[in-house]
Amino acid sequence: MASRLLPIRITVWNEFRHERSNQAVKAIYPEGIHSTIAGALRDQLGDDATVRTATQDEPDHGLTDEVLNDTDVLIWWSHGGYLEVRDDIVEKIHEHVLGGMGFVALHSAHTSKIFRKLMGTSGGLQWREAAEKERLWCVSPGHPIADGIGKYIELEHTEMYGELFDIPEPDELVFISWFEGGEVFRSGCCWRRGKGHVFYFRPGHETFPIFHNPEIQKVIANGVKYVARCEGSPYSLLSSNASEPLSPIGAKHTVDQSIH
Ligand code: ZN
Repeated sequence: MASRLLPIRITVWNEFRHERSNQAVKAIYPEGIHSTIAGALRDQLGDDATVRTATQDEPDHGLTDEVLNDTDVLIWWSHGGYLEVRDDIVEKIHEHVLGGMGFVALHSAHTSKIFRKLMGTSGGLQWREAAEKERLWCVSPGHPIADGIGKYIELEHTEMYGELFDIPEPDELVFISWFEGGEVFRSGCCWRRGKGHVFYFRPGHETFPIFHNPEIQKVIANGVKYVARCEGSPYSLLSSNASEPLSPIGAKHTVDQSIH
């Protein structure tokens, strides 16, 4: 973790619609899911982070160039409004991730344009809302995202997400969920994209108080630290012509410039 740039500049992004339109959701998250997560991160990370929030119905979805340029980790919660997220902003977020910005996708962000673009797959899954029990089993106990977490996290009432989860093979799998109704699910997955890191974390349906759970908050804070932008190597991701070799090349060769 020493190579992470401190403080980590976090932007918590939320669709923020059901908290305004649905009384049950509003009762759980009166200030919005983003405010609950932001507060938890301030508590967990202290001076190691600065936390701002942004929501979908703000101008430019709250994600201006100024905000994105000042973000080391973008956390994303979305649900029914995902198709209304502007493509040009999705494109910008994608570029920022490839350039080194960390991305944490929560729960129903599996359908978001940006998650699917980063994965190159549909993000499809099975779901059921029946307030069933879930156990998230830690299958990578040495992983920084599991730091401070026991063998499993138990949630008494959740929405079920089941396999098949249409994602590319995760670079690292940290949690697998078991559900009371019988399904299993890859609940904590990491990938690298360009210079950036992506963490998907499953829990978080808005009609259950999931983001008030201290263990869930701990995993999100760990995830932020894990995906945060780091100094990295100076390599550019863009193609370039290494026309000057590092050591002499014996062959005589004339480049046909017309084909490049
Ligand atoms: Zn849900």
